[in-house]
Amino acid sequence: MNTKDQIEALRDELRQHNYNYYVLDNATISDYEFDIKLKELQALEEAHPEFFDANSPTQRVGGAVTKNFATTVHDFRMYSLDNSYSKEDLLDWETRIKKMVDGDVQYTCELKYDGASMNLTYENGKLLRAVTRGDGVQGDEVTANVKTINTVPLQLKGDYPDRFDIRGEIILPIEGFLKMNEERIANEEEPYRNPRNTASGSLKLQDSAEVAKRPLEFLLYSIKGNDLNIQTQYEGLDKAREWGFKVPNEAKLVNSIDAVLDYVEYWDKHRHELPYEIDGVVVKVNNLHQQDELGFTAKAPRWAMAYKFKAEQVSTRLNEITYQVGRTGAITPVANLEPVQLAGTIVKRASLHNADQIEKLDIREGDEVFVEKGGEIIPKIIAVDLSKRPVDLRPTKYITTCPECDTELHRIEGEAKHYCPNYNGCPPQVIGRIQHYISRKAMDIEGLGGETVALLVKEGLINDYSDLYDLTVDQVIPLERMAEKSAENLISGVEASKKIPFERVLFALGIRYVGETVAKKLAKHYKSIDALMNASIEDLVSVDEIGERIAESVVEFFGSEENRRIVERLKTFGVQLEISAEKLANQTEKLKGLSIVVSGVFEKISRNELKKLIEDNGGKVSSSISSKTSYLVAGDKMGPSKRTKAENLNISIITEQAFLDILK
Ligand code: AMP
Ligand code: ZN
Repeated sequence: MNTKDQIEALRDELRQHNYNYYVLDNATISDYEFDIKLKELQALEEAHPEFFDANSPTQRVGGAVTKNFATTVHDFRMYSLDNSYSKEDLLDWETRIKKMVDGDVQYTCELKYDGASMNLTYENGKLLRAVTRGDGVQGDEVTANVKTINTVPLQLKGDYPDRFDIRGEIILPIEGFLKMNEERIANEEEPYRNPRNTASGSLKLQDSAEVAKRPLEFLLYSIKGNDLNIQTQYEGLDKAREWGFKVPNEAKLVNSIDAVLDYVEYWDKHRHELPYEIDGVVVKVNNLHQQDELGFTAKAPRWAMAYKFKAEQVSTRLNEITYQVGRTGAITPVANLEPVQLAGTIVKRASLHNADQIEKLDIREGDEVFVEKGGEIIPKIIAVDLSKRPVDLRPTKYITTCPECDTELHRIEGEAKHYCPNYNGCPPQVIGRIQHYISRKAMDIEGLGGETVALLVKEGLINDYSDLYDLTVDQVIPLERMAEKSAENLISGVEASKKIPFERVLFALGIRYVGETVAKKLAKHYKSIDALMNASIEDLVSVDEIGERIAESVVEFFGSEENRRIVERLKTFGVQLEISAEKLANQTEKLKGLSIVVSGVFEKISRNELKKLIEDNGGKVSSSISSKTSYLVAGDKMGPSKRTKAENLNISIITEQAFLDILK
């Protein structure tokens, strides 16, 4: 087999495995084997850039960065849906329909997936573009991000039309959402409110590699195009399945509104058995000719109707309000409830957010409260049932001292939360900071977990994260459940963290409001911890996207003697506290302010190297051409549509060599 065939064969095989795993939910090889094959393909593609294919399975990992999403007009307008809330609403709808069409009417019942609607255009079996609904007429092109979603086929199977649009909902399954939130809570970041907002927010992330990390799915519900030779909605769903799309099997074809009502009732009861959230049911006239006869109102099709479920609410007793202390010392009040069944789970606790919230609700221990799960997974207390309040309940007094260390709490002007200021002596803060330091997105110390950190602190072996570098195997072996092998792993994991680049070390330090993105910005701007430590508030706020709140927090952090001492210690141990010389040498600002599109296959360097060069020299890589594009770097086999678009917009098209000359 020649290399090209070998690459194609691997791509086909990986596509099939991807389909088996994500669409059919029926994997036939292990994740490990899949990874090996993917790496094999990656290596072949790297070595043979001439066979590059934007729709290869290797492209799912993302990497393209989009600063501005191009506005794109839909070929077929994306309408909204009319809503109904009762049996009567549905019967009225049926009456209206029956007046307008002849013959019997069948209905396709589908679930109303709660996510972000998306239109995909396919041409010759390949994904051409993905555009958000926007205002229905035009939306934002988010192709680079959507490509990373595993249930979006990049290459179709079977007998598909030459060109068509396909619509569906991008959703975040509940399990994946909870996992993302677990991580955020561990990082002391505000958890995401609900899967829907998180899904739609993901689509607008600038870095598609970030999107690739999120377990999004595309669930499909409609096909649009000219001469598609499809007669009914239900048939369309079947066809889409054959071409490789994920169409939930819950869709059902029925012959009457009564049967529609049965479907609604069934799913209202059973919706919590689904792996994703739905907020209702969508009923569609099945026959597409009848749909044509019915047409559209200004806003929505007459042939479809959404039935919205009610938000679920129960009432239960508030037994106790307790208080948690986070890594940054922030206090969160928690409502401990009499366990109650709600929306498919048993609810025992709900967050009360802060003192203001408690005051607003006038909530007291012993109250009967209404708890709701609307779009949110985390239950919310809506109100107190005052009619049930016993006469002797006393108003809640918010705590004034830390429940963990008894220090008096502070409240910063203008902030909702109280803080425990005992930075160095409050156990959850001390432990939490070290746990954050070793976490996956920070120093990623293998062989060391959160519980071991707590144990090490309790045993007095460490007090801050710099102490980790002093630990010896002999010191940790005596710890509970610590074998010699795991002790060695721990020490070598700590050692390996000395190679973690500066931007992640900066994130790991746990400065309040300095998350991953801010850490990257600061590292890029200041290049070393010394420069950052000496920066003033005025200096910091002059950095792109750094506001006063962050600036003050950075200055406060480095204003502490103790923090400076810890940083100095990290330095002596060899932790990366500046951008590496190699990285620095390759960085300039030559392309500052320029937005550059790269297209085609290149001779001297690979596409990825080219993109890296652009970023290292201060430019922005953009995936699509717009009036804001500064250059199109054109390689061999560049798509003709890109060229035409660039020419129409008068954008300079330059060769690889010309680009390299600019950098010289
Ligand atoms: P609304 O946003 O309330 O106007 O509801 C309309 C939206 O419901 C559409 O834009 C779709 O994004 C979404 N939707 C979810 N599931 C379906 C489905 N099965 N059929 C049609 N639309 C759906
Ligand atoms: Zn405390």
